[in-house]
Amino acid sequence: FKERLKSMIGEESISKDEHRVEIAGNIGTPSDIDNVLINDGEGVGLFRTEFLYMDSDSLPTEEKQFEAYKFVAEKLEGKPLVIRTLDVGGDKEIPYLDLPKEMNPFLGYRAIRLCLDRTDIFKTQLRAIYRASYYGNIKIMFPMISNINELRSAKILAEEVREELRKENIPFKEDVEIGIMVEVPSVAIHSKAFAKEVDFFSIGTNDLIQYTVAVDRGNQNISYLYNQYHPAVLNLINMTIKNGHEAGIWVGMCGEVAGDEKLIPVLLAMGLDEFSMSAGSILRARYQIRNTSKLEVAKHLDTILNLPTAEDVERYIDENILN
Ligand code: PEP
Ligand code: MG
Repeated sequence: FKERLKSMIGEESISKDEHRVEIAGNIGTPSDIDNVLINDGEGVGLFRTEFLYMDSDSLPTEEKQFEAYKFVAEKLEGKPLVIRTLDVGGDKEIPYLDLPKEMNPFLGYRAIRLCLDRTDIFKTQLRAIYRASYYGNIKIMFPMISNINELRSAKILAEEVREELRKENIPFKEDVEIGIMVEVPSVAIHSKAFAKEVDFFSIGTNDLIQYTVAVDRGNQNISYLYNQYHPAVLNLINMTIKNGHEAGIWVGMCGEVAGDEKLIPVLLAMGLDEFSMSAGSILRARYQIRNTSKLEVAKHLDTILNLPTAEDVERYIDENILN
């Protein structure tokens, strides 16, 4: 089987009925990019930038960030690189920011909420990303968006940064795509409106599941309730893809579900455009896509989305879709 996976290197990620998708890798540090390239990833669908802030005892400078983003962008030689802006808070702490302890950190002052408050931190990062955009195919993604005002505010700050760079005659690409993580249920539910104001969606299932079923993603005592096959989760994903496509934008996924063997065919049938996963899963996912017919699975979509429980979904997929 290992040999068969190796033979997937250089092949296209295309279904049996010739529907093409992109299979990309998630990275958490610049050196992770090697593993994505070895596994023939078609890009990076999620560059988690927290490492810059967490592996340090002070805020990273613009220069340091610029070097990190440029390094990865150049290694990708034109393949897409989605850089997610700072996503701290929740389970990801930064000691030197001295943030107050919260009762519900996952519902608290984190990610884009912190960035829109600490615009000094946010604009430094945006400057570094835009400067690096000159050296590759970079896209910007905002995490933990929950309403459209946040998105608009973030976009205004991005425009301020572009204006600064123009004035300083610093090269950058004017047409860098701006997208959001869909990881809060409010965004999935209202995705029709969000889709009109972004260039792409990337569904973050790790958080989307936790917020949809109200289960802390790290709490072992209730982990039996954290289930990617929950029909409510699948309906939110389906709705997000549909609304994104109706507005003419592409929709990806960078949560763990993108590499889930049982859900890959279902996501393909829903029309997901980009699957971003840990590097080690890329070739297996390609193999699976190449052996699946999108239209065949699509015949089952309505049934799956209307099943009552996660267990029913899992069983249905086992019995009717995976052989
Ligand atoms: C997610 O929430 O699905 C995601 C990809 O982001 P993170 O795991 O970093 O929260
Ligand atoms: Mg998340």
